[in-house]
Amino acid sequence: MLRLPPFTYLSPRSLTEAVTMIANQGPQDAMLVAGGTDLYPNMKRRQFEPKTLVGLRQLRALRELTGNARDGLTIGAGLTLTHVSQQRDMVAGYPALATAAGLVSTPQLRNMGTIGGNLCVDTRCNYYNQSYEWRKAVNFCMKKDGDICLVAPGSSRCWAVSSSDTAPMLWSLGASVRLAGPKGERVIPISALYRDDGIQYLSKQPGEVVTAIVLPPADVWRSTYLKLRRRGSIDFPILGVAVALRMDGETVREAAITLGAVASQPRPTPAAAALLVGQRLTPDLIDSVADAAFKPSKPLDNTDLTHPYRKKMTRVFVARALRQLAGL
Ligand SMILES: Cc1cc2nc3c(=O)[nH]c(=O)nc-3n(C[C@H](O)[C@H](O)[C@H](O)COP(=O)(O)OP(=O)(O)OC[C@H]3O[C@@H](n4cnc5c(N)ncnc54)[C@H](O)[C@@H]3O)c2cc1C
Ligand code: SF4
Repeated sequence: MLRLPPFTYLSPRSLTEAVTMIANQGPQDAMLVAGGTDLYPNMKRRQFEPKTLVGLRQLRALRELTGNARDGLTIGAGLTLTHVSQQRDMVAGYPALATAAGLVSTPQLRNMGTIGGNLCVDTRCNYYNQSYEWRKAVNFCMKKDGDICLVAPGSSRCWAVSSSDTAPMLWSLGASVRLAGPKGERVIPISALYRDDGIQYLSKQPGEVVTAIVLPPADVWRSTYLKLRRRGSIDFPILGVAVALRMDGETVREAAITLGAVASQPRPTPAAAALLVGQRLTPDLIDSVADAAFKPSKPLDNTDLTHPYRKKMTRVFVARALRQLAGL
């Protein structure tokens, strides 16, 4: 049985206290924990070995949900995925986000796991999500304890895969995130939260807390999220397709298609989305858009199923998502 390493658990009562605690401990030695559904298993495998954890569960401010679909919704980062997938305004105004949250793992993990933790979830790789002994037997890799990349030995970077279900959907919906840190609060577009690097995959400072996700007005957006995985439950995405279309009658006015699990960050496909603007969703157009979205999809041989298959499925899933939105 894998056991957690020893650590000190701090339980702040306010956001200010949480930010101060993490700053005092030093972001190299301390980490934030929300539901713990990603971090604790990773700690058991010694992928992270923080001396201190600063728990966010007592912070009421992180569990607030304000606004509405007409004016925009602000979702506290500490709300559980179960809540996000079932909340009335979410299901009515942002159904694809509710779907994405509801497709994460299992009911038990969605009851504990938070949307903030889902945005910050660690990148994944077959050579990394293994026990310490397994990783030691293959001489480790540069994401933890080693020097080289075992997927692409000549590469100077890590290609571990962004594996959040909600991040690509929030990206397509044009959401922002609110961050709190020692220097105060700031709001950034969700696209600015991520870096294309399997190790430093977040652009936020290690001591910054994601406090909320800000959704723009639901307006006349039609959206959907499709997820590819081996089993219908538990498994992380090995491809996510998040589509949002702003419609004027049957004509597309704005479009965003973001792919999950094909790179170290969610991958937007602006060239494919641009083909939709000013057009009606016809079968021929859908095929052309799916072809264009296929090109930037570049999965590597480091998650489940084969990477050529996952790339091939990008075309299939984008076409399927658009047909669903067109009612075809
Ligand atoms: C078997 C299994 C299957 C899974 N399947 C999926 C899946 O299908 N899809 C998917 O997306 N995820 C999956 N997960 C991962 C995880 O359960 C979810 O991503 C969950 O939403 C993580 O939220 P959490 O609150 O538990 O995060 P935690 O484990 O508490 O934290 C995860 C990371 O986020 C950081 N963090 C947490 N909250 C904040 C915050 N407010 N501000 C800044 N940093 C923060 C932590 O420091 C840590 O680095 C799976 C996990 C397991 C064990
Ligand atoms: S992509 Fe390479 S460096 Fe990154 S986790 Fe996998 S093997 Fe390690």
